[in-house]
Amino acid sequence: MREKSLISEAKQIQLATDLIKLGARLQVLEANTELSRERLVRLYKEIKGISPPKGMLPYSEDWFTSWQPNVHSSLFINIYNFIIKHTNVHTIDAIIKSYKLYLEHIEINSLQRVLSLTRAWTLVRFLESRVLRVIPCTKCKGNFIVHSLEIHTNHVCGLCNIPSRAGKTKKKVA
Ligand SMILES: [Zn+2]
Repeated sequence: MREKSLISEAKQIQLATDLIKLGARLQVLEANTELSRERLVRLYKEIKGISPPKGMLPYSEDWFTSWQPNVHSSLFINIYNFIIKHTNVHTIDAIIKSYKLYLEHIEINSLQRVLSLTRAWTLVRFLESRVLRVIPCTKCKGNFIVHSLEIHTNHVCGLCNIPSRAGKTKKKVA
C-alpha cells in the first residue's frame, strides 16, 4: 500500500518535471497532478532556479485565431489529434508528446516557438469546451482552428491566404 503510493507520487513528480521543463505555468501543473501547490512551487524553483510567475493565465481564445498563432496552433492540434486517434496516449501525456513533436518540427524548419506548452494545453481545453473547433481549409484541405460561433463556409486558411500587410505598408511608404 505504502509502496504503491510512493510509486504514484514518483510518477506525479516526473510528470510535473516534464511539464516544467517544457515551460508549463503553475496552473497547468496544478490541474494535471495531485501534488500540493507548495510542492509544485518547490519543484519549479529547483528546476528553473526561479519562482513560478504569479497571476492568472491571460489567454483568450482570440489569440488562437490570429494569423501566426493560428498556423502554429493548427499544426499542434493536427499532431495532437493524430496521436489521440492512432495511439493509446491520452490526456496530458498526449499534450506533452504532441508538444515535443511540435518543437521538433519548428526546430527542423528553423521557425520561432510561437505556441507555449501552457497555450497548447489551453487550446485543448477550448476545443473540448467547444469554444474553438477545427475545420478544413477549402484550398489546401489542411485542418485549422476557428471560432465555433462564427460561420465558416468556404474557409480559407492563413497559409493559403497570407496577409500582405507588410507589403502594403512598404508600398504606401514608397
Ligand atoms: Zn489552406
